[in-house]
Amino acid sequence: MSGARPVRGVLFDVDDTLVDTASAFSAALIAAMGELTTLSEADADRMVSTWRADAGGHYRAFVAGRLSIVQQRRKRVDELTAVLGLGALDDEAFAAWDSSYQERFAAAWVLFEDARSCVAQAVDAGLAVGVVTNAPGELQRAKIAAVGLADLLTEVVAVDSVGVGKPDPAIFHEGCRMLGTAPEETIYVGDELDIDAGAAVGAGLTGVWIDRPGRRRGGPHAVTDERLAAARAAGVEVIASLAELPRLWQQPGSEA
Ligand SMILES: [Mg+2]
Repeated sequence: MSGARPVRGVLFDVDDTLVDTASAFSAALIAAMGELTTLSEADADRMVSTWRADAGGHYRAFVAGRLSIVQQRRKRVDELTAVLGLGALDDEAFAAWDSSYQERFAAAWVLFEDARSCVAQAVDAGLAVGVVTNAPGELQRAKIAAVGLADLLTEVVAVDSVGVGKPDPAIFHEGCRMLGTAPEETIYVGDELDIDAGAAVGAGLTGVWIDRPGRRRGGPHAVTDERLAAARAAGVEVIASLAELPRLWQQPGSEA
């Protein structure tokens, strides 16, 4: 539990925490790649799991400032065409693919059903709320608006405004500064054990890992029992639904 320190703020990750981004990119990848080739169900599964695993670490290279958001996408598309046995896309073909992908991705953004109520409960409890994200701020503001959360979540700290992303403590501290809370008064919740919950604990916040049933990633980001035990020992809280989050800010005895 978060101990005796009262919670005054909650910072949320966006992708796969509030918004079902994995389903959105899955739909967008299948549709955009389906314009180039006929995909069997097995092809589609292989393609989506390759993208999600991001074994080449291209997204993390974007977060670290080594690739642009489009460059990381291109490298990942090269991996997909290789997995599908297709030739690499030239610049023009990639640009067309990317435009189709982005349009379909944005059309597929959907909020998890436990998300709005969780954010609303935090606001109703008088807590400051905001977002700390490793995606570009403009994209995340558009996503928050598209899923109908813009009335509740206006405070956004993004990798491109801070210059560093999670797991760097600086981005969590910028989130706290934005809320006007101290790290030890602030909860951070996200779907990645290491760069969300573990890194938040490292930055002095209450770090919460949302481990939705059936949603764990494979590849290098897979969570082993050993990694989970170490994270819990370091102070990471684990929840299976955002409906469990309010207990972390409710004082003992205040629950009905
Ligand atoms: Mg996430």
